[in-house]
Amino acid sequence: MPNENKKKFNNIAANGEHINFGNPMEITQVLTAWYDENKRDLPWRNTKDPYRIWLSEIILQQTRVDQGLSYYHRFIERFPAVQQLAEADINDVLKLWQGLGYYSRARNLHETAKIITDAFQGKFPDSYEKLLQLKGVGPYTASAVSSIAFGKPVPVLDGNVARVVSRLFAVTEPVNESSGKKSLYSILEKLIDKNDPGRFNQAIMEFGALWCTPRNPPCEKCVLSAFCMARAGKIVEKLPVKTKKINQRKRYFNYFVIKFKQDDGWYYYLRKRTGKDIWLGLYDFPMIETPSFQEQEKVLETARLQKILIPADAVVTAVSDNYRHQLTHQLIHARFFSVEVKNKSSVNFHQYIMVKDFEKYPLPKLIENFLLQANEF
Ligand code: SF4
Repeated sequence: MPNENKKKFNNIAANGEHINFGNPMEITQVLTAWYDENKRDLPWRNTKDPYRIWLSEIILQQTRVDQGLSYYHRFIERFPAVQQLAEADINDVLKLWQGLGYYSRARNLHETAKIITDAFQGKFPDSYEKLLQLKGVGPYTASAVSSIAFGKPVPVLDGNVARVVSRLFAVTEPVNESSGKKSLYSILEKLIDKNDPGRFNQAIMEFGALWCTPRNPPCEKCVLSAFCMARAGKIVEKLPVKTKKINQRKRYFNYFVIKFKQDDGWYYYLRKRTGKDIWLGLYDFPMIETPSFQEQEKVLETARLQKILIPADAVVTAVSDNYRHQLTHQLIHARFFSVEVKNKSSVNFHQYIMVKDFEKYPLPKLIENFLLQANEF
């Protein structure tokens, strides 16, 4: 580490200042040169089309690049332009999204495509502020689209960027709190390359994703090691600082896979999820949610009492093991009761539909996993 930087690091340790550093362009140049040599060849990097950049950013919000790539290709193939996405049926969009999770992203994608098509004549707004007003577009996505597609000097700040900057400048404030974000943002405003902000933003994200990783980053070979205050202070593994996650909610879903035989095979009851809860617009089975884990008999008794779920002529043929399904703030324990009914009219499900082919319906990953593992389907 240059002496000058050492002095600055000592200042940081002493009084928490971390924004007063020498020539930010040096770091920027090293970082972008590293990017040019090491970047992954990804399809949304070869375009300035805001539709493709926006789509890729929405897909990658909660998804790894290797998983998101095939979804990106599928969407572009099916909806090559924003107008085609706007005209699509929401069920088709959700179906294409199936398996990616966080389905509000798909619903917002569709809503925003309609707004772009109707209110903006098919053209994405080019400013950060206007982009931010679109559904499902937060500060990160607005920065990415405005800088990459329109060359606006707006820094991006995602988890990878927060890790790199907090280490380079030994920022010890929690990066998931507003004071920490503010500090990181003001550093990034000094670092960003005003001539090519899109390239800089992608460079720092890529550096965080591929090089300055959460565990054991290769500091000894790092092109930025001479500037890195965390390395000099031997606090690399301690950064970034994050405040504890909020408590996760545990939920217990008891599904009833109710089936009925017709001449052409088995039919199942599905319901479309509505209301303010997870998986809005997707399809699952009738179910009872209990506040805690309950024995099978107790669940069946409740279902029988309610009559809706298990009609008198029904036979419970199997009960699955417990499925554990982790969402960001919820842990779902699910169990599936297979129920055969002899007489279709004994089921009085106004809100349910009978289906033969599950493939036509967008399903939560949990239901998809169950169907894949249950060999009777
Ligand atoms: S020296 Fe280590 S901690 Fe610092 S930027 Fe490089 S990889 Fe990250």
